[in-house]
Amino acid sequence: GFDDSRKIDSFLGHDSLETQRHARRSNRNAAVTGVLVAGGAGFLGSHLCERLLRDNKEVLCVDNFFTGSRRNVDQLIGNPAFKLLNHDITTPLRVEAGEIYNLACPASPKHYQFDPVQTTKTNVLGAINVLDLARLLKVKVLQASTSEVYGDPHTHPQAEDYWGNVNPIGARSCYDEGKRCAETLFFDYIRQYDVPAKVVRIFNTYGPRMQPDDGRVVSNFIVQALCNQDITIYGDGGQTRSFCYVDDLIEALVRMMATPADIHGPVNIGNPVEITVRHLAELIIELTGSSSRLEFRPLPTDDPRQRQPDIAKARALLGWGPSIGLRDGLARTIAYFEDLLRSDEYGALR
Ligand code: NAD
Ligand code: UDP
Repeated sequence: GFDDSRKIDSFLGHDSLETQRHARRSNRNAAVTGVLVAGGAGFLGSHLCERLLRDNKEVLCVDNFFTGSRRNVDQLIGNPAFKLLNHDITTPLRVEAGEIYNLACPASPKHYQFDPVQTTKTNVLGAINVLDLARLLKVKVLQASTSEVYGDPHTHPQAEDYWGNVNPIGARSCYDEGKRCAETLFFDYIRQYDVPAKVVRIFNTYGPRMQPDDGRVVSNFIVQALCNQDITIYGDGGQTRSFCYVDDLIEALVRMMATPADIHGPVNIGNPVEITVRHLAELIIELTGSSSRLEFRPLPTDDPRQRQPDIAKARALLGWGPSIGLRDGLARTIAYFEDLLRSDEYGALR
């Protein structure tokens, strides 16, 4: 695992890393088993860190806390197998790891459009930095890509061989094109440097630890419903999404990482059950017993009209499929937000 004698919160130069690799070669028992999770203090990242610790892995969580928080990983701090490093992945990283997951990137439109240039840098420079590290260490690296690479799709549902319909100069482009360029880099490092790299394309995922104010549809609607405020539907609510519960998603990430080095993807991960935004609002009102009403607001630009993953590849390659239905997953997420909104920090439900 991570060598405690080393200061992971200071950056190790190439030489010291080489020295350590040499030391490791001469001691077979010292193989690095630690897992680096970039973006590990975010919504998905914190669930992944938890899962890896449950699987008896050592975890190095790397995050710049832009949208992530210490609160997300509070329960892990103090666990000797867990380390937290405040670092921005747009600058190179030299640490030991046996595997690397790259989840670092704000995921909600509100957050990734806050500083679009930084979003592109995080996607592109971040990908280069995790790939360079994986190349140096000769370890697997998995990229959390997104269904946004399909843009506003012309095929339905979306399979991995669809090339997408993305606006290169719009408000969402920093995220969409940034993620597309990251995929390009992943496949060029595979072809050019033989890096055992993997790409999964994640479709809308929800669950506990989404931020209450991140502007995403599930968190917005649940918070609005619990506070009996109007539910803000953008457009006519006829657009669709397919929502995957976080535990299902994490299971797929772990299975993808466990595939042999020559399996690269890309693989779609999501729950193919598709629902309109309006129906989602009605379902959340029902599950919360809320008195909220629907309020219609303008549709943001380039908002995809429909989205549903074709997960045949994930089923075949990973033996994976979602197991938690929308009602069940929403009930768990609502319970989380009820607790959160009652907590000292929010107090919104008291
Ligand atoms: P999130 O915003 O909660 O997590 C992202 C994490 O990355 C945060 O902790 C943030 O502080 C960190 N981060 C951002 N920029 C960084 C940088 N430059 N250096 C280091 N850390 C940085 O989002 P999430 O929902 O957990 O998404 C995680 C990953 O999964 C993202 O890459 C996202 O694009 C991808 N994804 C998520 C979804 C979804 O529905 N949640 C869908 C598709 C893809
Ligand atoms: N949306 C909405 N009301 C909200 C937040 C989002 O109607 O308060 C819509 C949004 O326009 C989009 C869908 O819900 O059509 C999903 O939005 P989200 O930002 O969660 O994810 P993404 O657009 O990235 O799939």
